[in-house]
Amino acid sequence: MRRLPIYLLIDVSESMVGENLRLMQDGLEQLVRALRADPYALETAYLSIICFAGRARTLTPLVELVQFYPPQLPLGSGTSLGAAMNHLMDEIERDVRRTTAEVKGDWRPIVFVMTDGKPTDDIEPAAARWARRFASRASLVGIGVGKHASLAALQRFTETVLSLDAESPTDFKRFIDWVSRSVSSQSRSVSMNQDSGISLAKIEDDIMKRIEDIAKAAVVDEDFVIIAGKCQTTKRPYLIKYERMAPLFATPGLTYPQRYNLVGVFPANNDYYDLSDERVLTQTVNTDLLIGTPGCPHCANRLGLAMCSCGQILCVSGPGHAVCPACGMDLNMQASDEDFDINRTRG
Ligand SMILES: [Zn+2]
Ligand SMILES: [Zn+2]
Repeated sequence: MRRLPIYLLIDVSESMVGENLRLMQDGLEQLVRALRADPYALETAYLSIICFAGRARTLTPLVELVQFYPPQLPLGSGTSLGAAMNHLMDEIERDVRRTTAEVKGDWRPIVFVMTDGKPTDDIEPAAARWARRFASRASLVGIGVGKHASLAALQRFTETVLSLDAESPTDFKRFIDWVSRSVSSQSRSVSMNQDSGISLAKIEDDIMKRIEDIAKAAVVDEDFVIIAGKCQTTKRPYLIKYERMAPLFATPGLTYPQRYNLVGVFPANNDYYDLSDERVLTQTVNTDLLIGTPGCPHCANRLGLAMCSCGQILCVSGPGHAVCPACGMDLNMQASDEDFDINRTRG
C-alpha cells in the first residue's frame, strides 16, 4: 500500500510556554479526531510529530492514523531550525519508501513546519541539502506563528510560507481545521492517483496570509522575556515569562527603558535540558525592568528569581542558606534592592 506521509515539525522553544503550547497540544488532538473521521485520510495518511527547540526529537514516528496517539509536547531552549530540518530529512530518508522499477513507493510526503521565532542556528547547510535532495520529492509548508516568526528563514526551504495570526483559541482551532482539510484533500487526490504537488485547502485569509513578498513581512521586536530557573528542592527546571508593557504615554524625543510585567511561571520537565542547546546565553535583562516576582512552581519556595554567581536562577524560601542546584555552591542569600542582570533564554 502506498502511504501519504504527513510530518508536523513543531517549534517547542520557550516562547511557546503557557497558552500557545496548550493550544498546540489541543490542536494535535483536534487534528487526529478530524482526520480519523475522513475515510480517505484514514486509508492513506501516516502521521509523524517532530518537535524542536535547541535540538530536535521525534515524538511520534510515522504511524497510521488508527494507531496515532497525540504525544505530550515538551519545552526546550533555542530554535534550531537547521538542526530540525536535518533531523526531518534523516527521517524521510529512512522511512519514506521510494519508487523503484519494481515497486511503487510512498506518495510525496507533506511537511508542515511551524515556528514562532527566529532560528538560533545556521540554517544554510540544511537549506542546501533540502534544495539538492528533498525539494523535488517532498512538499513543505512553512507556517510562521505570530509576529515574531522569521518568515525569511522558512522561505529558504519553500515558496509556500504562511503567516498565522491567531488571536484567540477559536482562531487557532480554525487553523488546525485548515491543516486537517489540507491533509484530507491531499489524501483524496492521491487516492485518485494524482500526485502532482500539494493541494492545500483554501486559505482562511482573516487569520493567515500567504507570504509572497518577504519585504512586506516585517519582523517585530520580541514582546517577551523568558527566564529559565532550576528548583533548589527538586532540581527540575521552570520558566518565568514576562511580557512587555505598552508605554503609558509617549513623549516625543524621549525613550524610556522597556519594562516587563510577570505573566506567569511554568514548570518544565527534565527533558527541557535534552531539547535545549548548550551554547552560552548571551542576552541579558536587568531585574530592575522586571515587574513581579513569582514563586517556585515545583516546591513551596516563595522566591523563584534568586541568582547564583554561576548565573543559574534558582528558587529560595527567603534570606539565608541555599545551595545552587546547578553548581552546588553554598549560598548566603540576602535581601537586596540592588539590580542584577539575568540571562534570557534563546527561544
Ligand atoms: Zn523550588
Ligand atoms: Zn551556581
